[in-house]
Amino acid sequence: MSLLQKLNTWYEDYGRTLPWRGIDDPYRIWLSEIILQQTRIEQGRDYYYRFVEAFPSVADLAAASEDQVLRLWQGLGYYSRARNLHAAAQYIMKECSGRFPETHEGILRLKGVGRYTAAAIASFAFRLPYPVIDGNVYRFVSRLYGITTPIGTDAAYSEFEQLLLRQIDRSRPDRFNAALMDFGSLQCKPQPDCKTCPFADECDALQTGRVDLLPVKAAKAKPIDRWFYYFDIRWPQDRTSCTLLEQRTGKDIWRGLYQFPLLETENVLDGDALAAAALHFITEEFGITAASFQVSDPFKHQLTHRTIHARFLRVELRSKPSKVPPKYRVAEVEMIKKIPVSRLIDRYLQSL
Ligand code: SF4
Repeated sequence: MSLLQKLNTWYEDYGRTLPWRGIDDPYRIWLSEIILQQTRIEQGRDYYYRFVEAFPSVADLAAASEDQVLRLWQGLGYYSRARNLHAAAQYIMKECSGRFPETHEGILRLKGVGRYTAAAIASFAFRLPYPVIDGNVYRFVSRLYGITTPIGTDAAYSEFEQLLLRQIDRSRPDRFNAALMDFGSLQCKPQPDCKTCPFADECDALQTGRVDLLPVKAAKAKPIDRWFYYFDIRWPQDRTSCTLLEQRTGKDIWRGLYQFPLLETENVLDGDALAAAALHFITEEFGITAASFQVSDPFKHQLTHRTIHARFLRVELRSKPSKVPPKYRVAEVEMIKKIPVSRLIDRYLQSL
């Protein structure tokens, strides 16, 4: 039996049923693919339903505000995916007359869509013969053929793509790709069950005792440590409690999300050093010259390339600070639930 026949047989028996499978709506397939980048299927499924319900069409997504999109995305991380999704929806409405691009090149022009996502949309929505190569496919294919090229690079993608282009089912590239992804995810797992594998006889890694050594992964950079001190400044106003927030801008993490006023330092601060730096910060920023701080326990927040070490300093005032620079906005504490904030801020709020 050829690779294709074996894969098809396996897929008929074990293929997954997923809400974005077996459909040809490019908008929904695109949504699912962007959500599933860096996200487990179980978590992604909920977000997929949320997005489809809030924005049933590309036109609905394009018409939403960025705050609405980020708020719905909250908790998924990698917020640039949400911003790109929103920008691409607006591009489709403006530049493509609201029609989702139907060619691989056209799909690749969408912001946030790389080779993998373009191949997934092209094959699942339009049955174009582009192999999809995600982490699961890399694992299975590298073991099957004994490929030692470090994965996750452009060069590796091209090498695996060339190989799979020779195998892809041109009449049903969607099924071929789904089978390949499921096989890598369910059978050729990091700790695979090779005894029940239909490819055991021809699997290079199994035959040469290298199952644990493949795929070869490119060395990862160590995450950078950053120290964040947030100021949760509160005062009573109109029978409610108010605080100050700012929106993150610039080319950094969490762009577009809201946060408490932030002092970022080069190193960890504690005790007197933290108290002095905190007082200096609120004096400079808000003209507050005397205050006591209630300092939270440390929060450690892991992102792919950064480790954030955060503390929240609660400052209770009798009234609004005398000086509020324009980059801050006054918000009712209750309103924070309705605006997009990072998972870190959310964790802090949940802890109160
Ligand atoms: S024999 Fe094992 S390592 Fe090889 S493809 Fe099958 S499950 Fe993967």
